[in-house]
Amino acid sequence: MNNSKSTTAKPPSIDDLISGLHRLSRNIWWTWHQESQEIFQLLSPRCWQNLYHNGVAVLNEVSPQELRARLAEPEFARRVAEVLESFEAYLGQADTWGDVHAPALKEAPVAYFSAEFGWHEALPIAAGGLGVLAGDHSKSASDLDIGFVGISLFYREGYFQQSINHENWQTEFYTLLNPANLPMEPVLDGEGKPVICEVRMATSQVRFRAWVVHVGRCPVYLLDTNLPENEQHYRDLTLRVYGGDSTTRIMQEILLGVGGVRLLRTLGVKPSVFHMNEGHAAFLTLELLREKLETGSSLEAAREATRRECIFTTHTPVEAGHDRFSPDLMRYAGLKFAEQLEIGFEDLMAMGRVDPANQDEPFCMTVLALKLSRAANGVSELHGQVSREMWHCLFPGRKLEEVPIGHVTNGVHTMGWMKGTVRRFWRNKLENGDGPSPADASDATRFWHIKSAADWERQVNSVEFWERMNDPAFISDEELWSLRYKLRRELIEFARRRLLLQGENLSRANFIEYDRLLNPDALTIGFARRFATYKRAPLVFQQFEKIVGLAHDRKRPVQFVFAGKAHPRDDEGKRFIQHIIHLSKYSELKGSLVFIANYDIHIARQMVSGCDVWLNNPRRPLEASGTSGMKTAMHGGLNMSILDGWWRESFDGTNGFAIGDDSHPASVEEQDRIDSENLYAVLTEEVIPTFFDRDDLGIPRAWLKRVRAAMSSVVAQFNTHRMVREYVEKFYLTR
Ligand SMILES: *Cc1c(COP(=O)(O)O)cnc(C)c1O
Repeated sequence: MNNSKSTTAKPPSIDDLISGLHRLSRNIWWTWHQESQEIFQLLSPRCWQNLYHNGVAVLNEVSPQELRARLAEPEFARRVAEVLESFEAYLGQADTWGDVHAPALKEAPVAYFSAEFGWHEALPIAAGGLGVLAGDHSKSASDLDIGFVGISLFYREGYFQQSINHENWQTEFYTLLNPANLPMEPVLDGEGKPVICEVRMATSQVRFRAWVVHVGRCPVYLLDTNLPENEQHYRDLTLRVYGGDSTTRIMQEILLGVGGVRLLRTLGVKPSVFHMNEGHAAFLTLELLREKLETGSSLEAAREATRRECIFTTHTPVEAGHDRFSPDLMRYAGLKFAEQLEIGFEDLMAMGRVDPANQDEPFCMTVLALKLSRAANGVSELHGQVSREMWHCLFPGRKLEEVPIGHVTNGVHTMGWMKGTVRRFWRNKLENGDGPSPADASDATRFWHIKSAADWERQVNSVEFWERMNDPAFISDEELWSLRYKLRRELIEFARRRLLLQGENLSRANFIEYDRLLNPDALTIGFARRFATYKRAPLVFQQFEKIVGLAHDRKRPVQFVFAGKAHPRDDEGKRFIQHIIHLSKYSELKGSLVFIANYDIHIARQMVSGCDVWLNNPRRPLEASGTSGMKTAMHGGLNMSILDGWWRESFDGTNGFAIGDDSHPASVEEQDRIDSENLYAVLTEEVIPTFFDRDDLGIPRAWLKRVRAAMSSVVAQFNTHRMVREYVEKFYLTR
């Protein structure tokens, strides 16, 4: 990108700036561009905070007169103009990775279907890691500039919000989202009217419209059945993420799969690949089949042609994570499928059965997806292997290693996850570099002197940048340690604020009490994710007395920050939450353990950046990948994790800590016992001694050596730029 335009072109008028700001706010590119966010924040610091960092909502709050008046201030206008210029430069960039490596996708894009997308706290329509992964995938698709369109649903009540009642029990509430206040736009036809499509469900024709979220260069369409002409229960199909019962679920999935393809056809998008992110979207294969039959193909030919277009990513070895619909439900909701495909009902069921002859077997979306895609993958090396074992039954003639399921390990979108504090830190460092000046620098060091924002983003996304973390001349221990202190304090102050709001009684005494929670000098261990039981949130407290001892050690104190939501129908997960909150309020851990309610992307960002250690103790091998630990590494946090999912391939002995080894205990009880012992052992024998081993200047040199190893090895590898490139090269462009 070049910056020369600003000096030659005439400065934009206030009207240009106003329309530019509105356009900017409706492209969530600003969620990974710090300077854009600062503009919205400057317009109204309080709204920025209260409206949950939502640029559209801030602009709706500020009147046209106020905006005009503010933009008359030259310094502010200059900043806005700069941001808008970066935005246009981003959108207009030439010779991108996609131009060079995937021009075919420009003609015929990837259509990526996902039941959820999690981009930012301002658009809370994701339930957890799957959605965040889809969001990060789309951001990298845009940055790399590959042809990409996304399909999902617009859940007008999003995912539930969590509050905690007086019995420390999770309760759920929902808030209605207002599309006019969200970073998305209605999809309109040439006459400015909403584009409407239809899909058949049970005996009804259900109509839907769509919203588009501009993710940088890539559109993601969110389907919405909330139209007055639909019966109420169909209007409510798009009420909540994974809401309702199995009838709601199957109909949501018909809408996603079949409706998604219909919308793309209506818009004239001609994808070359359909990527099913998890089995939820697998009905799209039936729509592709139908289209081909309609043009006169035989069923066999249509099947082959559909397989050639589809790829499938499976995300979990947990049984309950694979949708299965009973024959009755299929007969009711999916009646039309068999009719449209001109096949018998049992033939339809066979497409979703491991054993086509078993009439009691339900219809499994994963089976459908596997049968009708040309390639499939798990989301880490171990998960690929586990998936091959799990689905070997579908390929009876083949050896285990020949089961056609590979793997692409998940990643995170580096720029989207990096906290403002750390972005500013690197930006200042790179712009004002303490190193040699450009004039007398060698080429190698000159690379580190940056000219523009785009330059620094490119560097932060490069492998070379993160490799430099091992170089104390580039960044000193002192700088790193001071950054770690800053981030830890930011988290602690955030937690104190949140806990004060969570507590019922806002008396003055409470302010003081809450300001004593947590200790900025303590080793801070974080755990935040969905409270699915296999993730074993309370595992660390199995050694309760010993953990209390560690927390109370005056010289080497340890403390814990927890957050996470349990599925509304998962009482065991809710008991885990209750147990942890109970300990935080009434046990000897009070003050050294907090539970922050209503976990979301914003809380995630605070926690992954502020914690020294990110704890991950799933029941192996059930954590297919996991991604939150990747977010921690870029902030200088260290993972302490079971060797499951991504960590099994990332851990190298120097870049964090492993709980246990690569072995598999005989029973679940045995596994829990051994893992909790190993967890305590690594904590007391490695983590705590290393963290508190300080030199005369108070700096933990050996700890920081590990931090450097983590930053250089994890961030460069476990990001969605690498992941999307791998999808392009291994799957999107191959047939
Ligand atoms: C990253 C993230 C997740 C995924 O966390 P895991 O540890 O991989 O389960 C879930 N929810 C939110 C809000 C996240 O940001």
